[in-house]
Amino acid sequence: MADIKTLDALDLAGKRVFIRVDFNVPLDEQGRVTDDARIRAAVPTIAYALDHRAKVILGSHLGRPKGKPEDRQKYTLEPAATRLAEILKKDVTLADDSIGDGVKKAVKDLGEGEVLLLENLRFHPEEEKNDEGYARELASLADVWVNDAFGTAHRAHASTAGMAKFVKEKAAGFLIKKEVDFLGRVLTRPAHPFVALLGGAKVSDKIKVIENLLGKADCICIGGAMAYTFLRAQELEVGKSRVEEDKLELARQILDKARARGVEFLLPVDHVCAEEPKETAKRVVVNDRAIPPALMGLDIGPKTLDVYRQRILAAKTVFWNGPMGLFEQKPWAEGTFGVARAMADSDGVTVVGGGDSAAAVEEAGLVAKMKHVSTGGGASLEFIEGRVLPGIQVLEG
Ligand code: ADP
Ligand code: MG
Repeated sequence: MADIKTLDALDLAGKRVFIRVDFNVPLDEQGRVTDDARIRAAVPTIAYALDHRAKVILGSHLGRPKGKPEDRQKYTLEPAATRLAEILKKDVTLADDSIGDGVKKAVKDLGEGEVLLLENLRFHPEEEKNDEGYARELASLADVWVNDAFGTAHRAHASTAGMAKFVKEKAAGFLIKKEVDFLGRVLTRPAHPFVALLGGAKVSDKIKVIENLLGKADCICIGGAMAYTFLRAQELEVGKSRVEEDKLELARQILDKARARGVEFLLPVDHVCAEEPKETAKRVVVNDRAIPPALMGLDIGPKTLDVYRQRILAAKTVFWNGPMGLFEQKPWAEGTFGVARAMADSDGVTVVGGGDSAAAVEEAGLVAKMKHVSTGGGASLEFIEGRVLPGIQVLEG
């Protein structure tokens, strides 16, 4: 991947700088922001532009508005504007739309070092269609386009990619740059030993990630529900555990490929099980690779965690995607929090990608102990699959 320029390479003074941010934050019933991590993640870029006397125009989507009248209320960026103003200790004006005469006037009135947040870009269906007319309208508001929305970098929408060619200058924000640096380092120049931990709900979601990492990692540790499909593919009994029957052949191919390439491919050697996936169900530790008929695997067992922990501590690069078990329920969370703790104890380059994995690290209180926790769920996975993300591609060259 070519190097991408960040906004500090540009002279921003007096210019209208459109920053595509990811303010797609969770809200409670009262419409208050319940987790402002994404807003905080964009602040270094916004603050830099403000400090360098830019006229800052922010654009984001929130949720998936469908064009119903009540959606305007449900998906307004007003709560994000309020939270951002608190963080910046500065007024943030919320425009009533993202294009049109009112917005043009608001941009005209915008002074250096001031912030205008456009209303939810997805109130216009043209945004997701990457409509050229809409992209041109957005671009007409700005001299410079900065993309700092890693969470939507895998989408070619008007604000995340389309408008790039209609502005005079473009650059990456600091968040996207950090994401590309860390995820790129995992893929292209990992320090060895490189250990990848992969878990989560389904093999089918992670096939491309596994295949790409098979050519790069020294060791792949498998956990989560997808482990049972691999165990089943080796003719082991897995009881009532979740198995993707139609992926058994593929699982066998992956196991063969790992063997042929000399990649150590580790599966759980013990399990935490129950008769049903409920917090109140009796927790049974099965000290065997196979699982009895009445039980389902819900987490990796203590022996497995110990093996994975040793691999993590011996590694110079660790990439983790996918929880090791049904971590949302306490009896099945130890494997997931255990690998998070091992990564926190590692001196290597530790990178976490994936929405649920990032949530688990957050819940464990270990975000600050990782070298990088990706803010992009789907985007980080597509990146690790080795795909070119449209929102990043347009920043190159
Ligand atoms: P990410 O978002 O990090 O990519 P995934 O979406 O692939 O992760 O998977 C996360 C989900 O997988 C979690 O909701 C977790 O509860 C579930 N999961 C993991 N292991 C199991 C299991 N053994 N049984 C049922 N669900 C599991
Ligand atoms: Mg997920």
